[in-house]
Amino acid sequence: MAHDWDAGRLDSDLSGAGPDTLAVRAGQQRTPEGEHGEPLFFTSSYVFRSAADAAATFAGEMPGNVYSRYTNPTVRAFEQRIAAMEGAEQAVATSSGMSAILATVMSLCSAGDHVLVSRSVFGATVSLFEKYFKRFGLEVDFVPLVDLQRWERAFKPNTKLVFVESPSNPLAELVDIEALAGICHAKGALFAVDNCFCTPALQQPLALGADIVIHSATKYIDGQGRCLGGVVAGRAELMKELVGFLRTAGPTMSPFNAWVFLKGLETLRLRMQAHCASAQVLADWLEQQSGVEKVYYAGLESHPQHELAKRQQKDFGAVLSFEIAGGKEAAWRFIDATRLISITANLGDSKTTITHPATTTHGRLSPEERANAGIRDSLIRVAVGLEEVEDLKADLARGLAAI
Ligand SMILES: *Cc1c(COP(=O)(O)O)cnc(C)c1O
Repeated sequence: MAHDWDAGRLDSDLSGAGPDTLAVRAGQQRTPEGEHGEPLFFTSSYVFRSAADAAATFAGEMPGNVYSRYTNPTVRAFEQRIAAMEGAEQAVATSSGMSAILATVMSLCSAGDHVLVSRSVFGATVSLFEKYFKRFGLEVDFVPLVDLQRWERAFKPNTKLVFVESPSNPLAELVDIEALAGICHAKGALFAVDNCFCTPALQQPLALGADIVIHSATKYIDGQGRCLGGVVAGRAELMKELVGFLRTAGPTMSPFNAWVFLKGLETLRLRMQAHCASAQVLADWLEQQSGVEKVYYAGLESHPQHELAKRQQKDFGAVLSFEIAGGKEAAWRFIDATRLISITANLGDSKTTITHPATTTHGRLSPEERANAGIRDSLIRVAVGLEEVEDLKADLARGLAAI
């Protein structure tokens, strides 16, 4: 269906555009219909003009879509928008945050390689490395996130990949990404950062020297708790390996989810700003309360890495945790006394969530592993959403009154 417009004017010129503009417009290629919103390509396969064209496209001699496990225009638009926002040459979307990590390791590592992982990573990430990758001959060691000397000493001649989450969950610890990138490169290892908690709106690991940035799009990129997805971004030479793995193994992103995430990215910075502002108010307030023994939030001057967080991130994120007087029973009483906040382990939603890490997200760890990770029975985590901050404060005050 041809049209008479100048095709060049259908798509925006984004040369020199700033991050907010890229978040709204990057990756969109209009079809001849001239749609303003991003089109959703709900199709598993694509047709060809002739048998010869089909053969040429399959052989890679002619550009074009073949099958949505390989490419899908809606997924591609999401990938290009994320790449623009992370300052990456290329991004590759996956079916979940976990499959983003799976695809990274499966495509870049082999049996016999050694991988270093920061100790305080997401629970399923620990299981993926400990329980599954080790079965296929990968050597895995865990290193405390904040300690650069321990990192330096943990490398072996066969260390291929270093994987960290910064800031960490639930204690909001950081690693100096630029410094660790320097160590990784001196040792000849690739450096991957799970940027789920900050998103590209607050932190750009590639600009700080990381080789690979990984997201669970399920969290802030969606931002409203609807869809599962993941994405990996970095140099084209690395992403080529991921594309090969994903089109073969299959954990690719659904076009519907890609469409939801595209719309999520458009409001990401504004949402993050509001999330962070409320988190700061609540962290400041919690620190003043007599029933609260310690608050973990990098926006507090009491946080040991406050200065690093200011340097490395645009803001401090929206996940905070705190220890209350008393143990597990008191923590459960606190959580059960809230009436507004959702009791769920998810985060990155407009709805505020509260969880008891020791018996949920970190419940499968042995008491010793939990102690190592600094997860005490008196610890409560809150992922601050977008409700009125005074309502959230009142709800947390109900919790405090109950202990
Ligand atoms: C949720 C999460 C993941 C896993 O993402 P899914 O989309 O749930 O598979 C990985 N890393 C971090 C930091 C997360 O919070």
